Amino acid sequence: MTITIHTFVLGAIKNNTYLVVDDATRQAAIIDPAAPTNRIPALLEEKGYQLAYMLITHAHFDHIGGVKWMQSLSQQHIPVALHALDLDLWKSGGGSKDFGFEFDPGPAPDLIVSDGQILPLGKTSLTVLHTPGHSFGHVTYLDLEDQAAFCGDLIFYHGVGRTDLDVCNEDDLFNSIRTKILTLPGNTVLYTGHGAKTTVQEEMDNNPFL
Ligand SMILES: [Zn+2]
Ligand SMILES: [Zn+2]
Repeated sequence: MTITIHTFVLGAIKNNTYLVVDDATRQAAIIDPAAPTNRIPALLEEKGYQLAYMLITHAHFDHIGGVKWMQSLSQQHIPVALHALDLDLWKSGGGSKDFGFEFDPGPAPDLIVSDGQILPLGKTSLTVLHTPGHSFGHVTYLDLEDQAAFCGDLIFYHGVGRTDLDVCNEDDLFNSIRTKILTLPGNTVLYTGHGAKTTVQEEMDNNPFL
């Protein structure tokens, strides 16, 4: 089905927070709610979108800073999706201590996802791809039909995710990119966690790290 993607650049590290909407049903998912912003609830209200999920690519603090706040605004509990291997990172404050501050991301996610799992969003299907490397439980959310992949800090426009932090593994990162991203159709748009979006073909041809 067709989707609409709204992009918000939020927080000190300029994270991309995406609101993905299934056009047929107006069911919506927030991918990586980075920080509180009134612009998201305002848009939900204005367009009549129903928030079905918060989908987390990985539990670094800069990708989850808006989860607790967003939950507090909602009448119903919004399921929060995360891979099991990133639960420890979540519970330890999303790596915030490594950066010299304390951060409480709120209750641990309750929708534990794994590789190959399909999350229905109205008439759209999002497939979970386990793409470890930048963190143990990093995932990409793929909408193959609409040629969109939300890939967090795995790969960037002409760049790759950092692998110098505690929960990183460089071999895993490149393996994830090669086996899970570069095998997608070339025109698949990669919606990255920071900076410009790109495509599989663009990165195959011009990413200096690959
Ligand atoms: Zn990260
Ligand atoms: Zn990040």
